[in-house]
Amino acid sequence: MASIDLHFHSTASDGGLPPAEVIRRAAAREASLLALTDHDCTAGLAEARATALAAGVDFLDGVEVSVTWNARHTVHILGLGIDPDNAALRAGLQSIRDGRVERARQMGESLAKIGIPGVFDGAMRLAANPEMIGRTHFARYLVQSGEVKDVKSVFRKYLTTGKPGYVAHEWATLEDAVGWIRGAGGMAVIAHPGRYDMGRTLIERLVTDFKAAGGEALEVVSGSHSLDDMLRFALVAQKHGLYASAGSDFHAPGEGGRDVGSTTDLPPICLPIWQALAPRIHRAAANVEE
Ligand code: AMP
Ligand code: MN
Ligand code: MN
Ligand code: MN
Repeated sequence: MASIDLHFHSTASDGGLPPAEVIRRAAAREASLLALTDHDCTAGLAEARATALAAGVDFLDGVEVSVTWNARHTVHILGLGIDPDNAALRAGLQSIRDGRVERARQMGESLAKIGIPGVFDGAMRLAANPEMIGRTHFARYLVQSGEVKDVKSVFRKYLTTGKPGYVAHEWATLEDAVGWIRGAGGMAVIAHPGRYDMGRTLIERLVTDFKAAGGEALEVVSGSHSLDDMLRFALVAQKHGLYASAGSDFHAPGEGGRDVGSTTDLPPICLPIWQALAPRIHRAAANVEE
């Protein structure tokens, strides 16, 4: 078990715990290297970084960028080791956030039409950062209001392609997302590749486009991967000379998935991205060698 977790969320996006709390939870579970990767947003990084370093845990600044690839596929690209103050990255992420409230309004209208009113306002009340309103807040509201039994079922019934509360959205381009991340000194990683509705051919095309844009890694170990996914993407990474990353994709206690702060070991054929990112790691004082 590796005490490394390079993908999880806080209330700055759709996580359930504030940045300091999610870091303390990971530290209590003996994490040694962490990266907070909120969706399209870096607002939680300063608090998370300070909390990690105070707890003796090394830290990488991260983000998870929403991308629309090949006209209709939503793909998530992690940026690890970024400089959150980089102007082009900040402007790019702001442009993604700008579309979220309008999309959420449309989702609310769409649900009202099928007889479930008030969901936009309800979801907004659950979003600590209103400009980061997203599907998870809708799902939590529909569970809390007693409409649906759990978050997974809400997604299945209402919030995925073709369902009544789903509103297609144009996110950033793959080229822009990877460009912003690299321009801010970071490395780009295709998040949870096993979750996309793509066969072998499409994955090959995605990886080819991603590498052409300057992308360098695949998330091989993920809280949302099966053992099969992990082995499959370890081989894809090896074939394409990509680094491998590992993250829980933790959102909130009680919402299923892996807890924050540790991941299973990468398969031995993988090249760990954290070695390549060594110069970008903020080191806790106790871990700085004399
Ligand atoms: P958004 O960026 O607003 O479209 O929301 C995407 C987020 O919804 C993801 O980051 C996950 O946190 C969550 N999500 C997507 N699909 C599912 C699912 N099937 N079950 C639970 N959560 C999901
Ligand atoms: Mn999420
Ligand atoms: Mn994701
Ligand atoms: Mn995520």
